[in-house]
Amino acid sequence: MNLAETPNTENSHNPFLTLNYEPALESLGDDYYDAVIAANFPQHILRWRNDAILPNLGLDPLAVTDKDFITAFGQFQGRKPLLALRYHGYQFGTYNPDLGDGRGFLYGQVRAKDGNLYDFGTKGSGKTPYSRGGDGMLTLKGGMREVLAAEALHRLGVRTSRCLTMIETGLSLWRGDEPSPTRSSVMVRVNSSHIRFGTFERLHYLQRPDLTQKLLDHVIEYYYPHLIAEKNQYVLFYAELVKRVAELVAQWMAAGFCHGVLNTDNMSITGESFDYGPYAFIPTYDPYFTSAYFDYYKRYCYSHQASICQLNLELLQEPLKAIIDKAEMESALRKFNSYYQAEYHLLMWKKLGFAQLELPVGNELLNVTIQFLQDSQVGYHEFFWEIARTFTIKWREEPGLVLKGSHIIPTSETANIFENWCELYHKTLNYFEVEQMDIIAQTLLTHNPQTTLLRPMIESVWEPIAQEDNWQPFNDLLKTIQCQ
Ligand code: AMP
Ligand code: MG
Repeated sequence: MNLAETPNTENSHNPFLTLNYEPALESLGDDYYDAVIAANFPQHILRWRNDAILPNLGLDPLAVTDKDFITAFGQFQGRKPLLALRYHGYQFGTYNPDLGDGRGFLYGQVRAKDGNLYDFGTKGSGKTPYSRGGDGMLTLKGGMREVLAAEALHRLGVRTSRCLTMIETGLSLWRGDEPSPTRSSVMVRVNSSHIRFGTFERLHYLQRPDLTQKLLDHVIEYYYPHLIAEKNQYVLFYAELVKRVAELVAQWMAAGFCHGVLNTDNMSITGESFDYGPYAFIPTYDPYFTSAYFDYYKRYCYSHQASICQLNLELLQEPLKAIIDKAEMESALRKFNSYYQAEYHLLMWKKLGFAQLELPVGNELLNVTIQFLQDSQVGYHEFFWEIARTFTIKWREEPGLVLKGSHIIPTSETANIFENWCELYHKTLNYFEVEQMDIIAQTLLTHNPQTTLLRPMIESVWEPIAQEDNWQPFNDLLKTIQCQ
């Protein structure tokens, strides 16, 4: 794409400009995107580089300079156009045919060491034919919130995009939801794909089954290659997507994460989580916790995420029915709930320290855990961290010792359910041998990191940036998230 054509010798040493980009989506032809020139910016300050993901991209972090990031992802002058992808989508239940990349571009696609193809997608790099009234820009705070979300979710085992870099770009932006003027950034995210449910919805809207067929073949070739040889590869693709999405939602739920804007343009065709705008980690277990302030009817609240994603998969049947038998898709979608439940149980048991549990006891433990979390409104993440922090082998001997010395202290209203929980946890530990207690302790620590990305935490690193341009707390937090 743009990169190979960058002329001067300085850039010929820039590893991002000499990467072997694969024009996979570009090769589909221009029915799927518009070529657009990215914006020029008055300033370029590197604010984040994700060295942790460079090795998989075939890059040695020590060989990549800060300037390499800035030149590649912040300075677009004289470069070939990037691709603004075309898509539509159901937004809060209403079909919107005026979408598309409005402030982001597909920068390039790279075959990584793990064998998978990844997109570099910019966000905040300028206007496109789909910007509508928008300025094509991303606020610095929005960029840093997405960087943090992706790293935190990755640490929690969620199948997520990650951010490669964030560059401050020196513009003053006006936003209704941030004190304005506010600072600007370009953020680059690495996704398994930027093809969305809405990419197919647009083709259906345009009544182009030929383009749907071509795109579906492309998706299978690049993202479901194990299905190519299958006779019924199309329905198998849909069935696998159902499973991936169900498992993704279970990962969000166990992580205590509310995505916030589950429109079909934010649903990836690979079942990966991406696009973190008004997301939040839940402070306490509240099924109706809603992270987007503009989601007045709580459509995308924490506990609706499974049913909404199931609905989005159902909506995807409309464009796909040109190629895949509808009844077979309906039958595949009926498995959504069992996939979701199985994964959710597994992940919650791990948060409780158990790699696997027998169903009756496992279900009972999970039910009582959720009931206690909901009734007590103790911190969701704090509860699991306190189990991990205070766990001792003595809990196996005496139920009264469970969570002794922790910060989880029940009120008179929740004393009974808390006691039930302690009894049950003690009983569950006794299904295991003494020798297995170390593994349980380790499982607890692996699945319950101490630092969680609650909103006050994000604000506490943003304030020093906003007040005195102090990036230390932000960098420290990222280091903690990545290493804990
Ligand atoms: P999002 O809510 O971030 O998923 O964005 C929904 C749609 O609005 C996408 O098509 C975006 O590209 C577009 N969009 C959001 N913010 C802006 C902006 N500041 N300028 C142009 N387009 C935008
Ligand atoms: Mg989006």
